[in-house]
Amino acid sequence: MSSTVSPPATLGPAVLTGTPVVPGAAVGPAVRPTGAVRLPDEPGAAIPEDRREAEKARYGAAAEAVAERLTARAAAATGVSAEVLSTTAGIARDRALRSAAEQRIDGGTPAPVAAVEAAAQFMDMFAALGGLMAERVPDVRDVRDRIVAELTGQGEPGVPAPDIPSVLLADDLAPADTAGLDPARILGLATRLGGTTSHTAIIARQLGLPCVVGVGGLDDVPAGATVLIDGEQGTVTVDPDPGEAQERVAAARVAIEALAGYRGPGATRDGHVVQVLANVQDGAGARAAVAAHAEGVGLFRTELAFLGRPEEPSVEEQAAGYAEVLAAFPGRKVVVRTLDAGSDKPLAFATPPDEANPALGVRGLRVARRDPGLLERQLDAVAEAAERTGSTPWVMAPMVATVPEAAGFASAVRARGLVPGVMIEVPSAALHAERLLAHVDFLSIGTNDLSQYALAADRLSADLAELTDPWQPALLELVALTAAAGRRAGKPVGVCGEAAADPLLGCVLVGLGISSLSCATSAVARVGARLSTVDRSACERAAEAALATDDPQAARAAARTILAG
Ligand code: PEP
Ligand code: MG
Repeated sequence: MSSTVSPPATLGPAVLTGTPVVPGAAVGPAVRPTGAVRLPDEPGAAIPEDRREAEKARYGAAAEAVAERLTARAAAATGVSAEVLSTTAGIARDRALRSAAEQRIDGGTPAPVAAVEAAAQFMDMFAALGGLMAERVPDVRDVRDRIVAELTGQGEPGVPAPDIPSVLLADDLAPADTAGLDPARILGLATRLGGTTSHTAIIARQLGLPCVVGVGGLDDVPAGATVLIDGEQGTVTVDPDPGEAQERVAAARVAIEALAGYRGPGATRDGHVVQVLANVQDGAGARAAVAAHAEGVGLFRTELAFLGRPEEPSVEEQAAGYAEVLAAFPGRKVVVRTLDAGSDKPLAFATPPDEANPALGVRGLRVARRDPGLLERQLDAVAEAAERTGSTPWVMAPMVATVPEAAGFASAVRARGLVPGVMIEVPSAALHAERLLAHVDFLSIGTNDLSQYALAADRLSADLAELTDPWQPALLELVALTAAAGRRAGKPVGVCGEAAADPLLGCVLVGLGISSLSCATSAVARVGARLSTVDRSACERAAEAALATDDPQAARAAARTILAG
């Protein structure tokens, strides 16, 4: 995204703009990741046959050294950071990757070249698979660089650990680099690439590091320059006025400390009730959401527990998993989403393997067209979990496009004594929201996919992050349409996409008429606390102002002006 504003020096500091990801502000000298690892650029002399075993052992030792370092860092980290570091360590130890390298060494290829070629084979394969698999490509590239660095005596690539607390500027960061950041030394970060759902963004959110991604012109900022990162406004200011920068950092700190007091339930300052719920994927996640004062679960992504599973889990296994989540919120709202298999979340037992265009293919509820039993068995499992826990979960289908789809789903759900709803992720569903509500009891807007399909832009594409920005006024218009349909029907309409994790946008969504916001557990307090500082009428004015703009930056600015404080 991003325009660059670089006024002449006499007019003040240069302000670069990007997509705000984690609120907060940080000022300090800029540091950059250590230089790229030099990869072998020639095949090199063939290794003689009698030294090939030793060369393989050298490769194995290098891969293991890399894996051990990452594992040690994983042990010292928590949450998503620990997961990312363990995953990267797992890739370094991966047997398939290792044997691809060994095969080449067996043919006389030197270990560093074999490491590059084997990694290329896997990166090509993952890129071709697309979706979540394609997201593995940066991890494999990172592992490749680490192994080559180890084999060739270059320093370990990654981010520096500066003596003076600094801000990190980078083109993009390998997930393991972000996960290993020490918040005592790195106060905030900005990247030229990446979108709101990139790994960098997810981990920065967990670490609470102010973060802006997709910043145009970041390349031109030299290491050592003083930089102010503003994760609320999405700006990177080079050589800011020192007094103003300190004031901004202090104000951001006060706002963040106010969060610590959030206990729910969600409401605007003048008492308009808005449920602030959590997105979870399993029982542990649901229990963490309880601790974070989420009022319930607005999106239980059931497919995530089964990624990588070759066969459909039994009804009993599913029921046990679902019951764990229901048990975490006795008597509270829990919205179970049926399997959203396909596209970026392929499930081996549900997803057709060779679709030309998976995002527009047989995903979400459409999987039941090929295999109705899969949906029936999942609903049986939810009903069983409901019975065991004495709860009445809401159940919604992803990727609904038509009224007959919603009607069929609703009757299958009602037949089991559960409460049916559908996600609004496809523009046709937003346009027909009121007709859908003739069949179901609630709607939940998945802004991640709704923006992808409304703006015709791959949600995983860093190049198109501006188009899938949840502040796109056309997306907000679809939200407004859907909320208005809910009001007319007297039925709740929530938002459970990433849009709901943005505290300022959360206020705007409420102004558009949304009745619940469901977001990552780490964002619950931020969203709830922000909402409690504004009146409903201000949210409505901010929503109107955002709708009247032509681009995400202008929409943010318009809302911020009205909701400032
Ligand atoms: C969405 O599309 O906004 C959503 C919540 O679903 P997912 O991100 O799991 O596709
Ligand atoms: Mg979705």
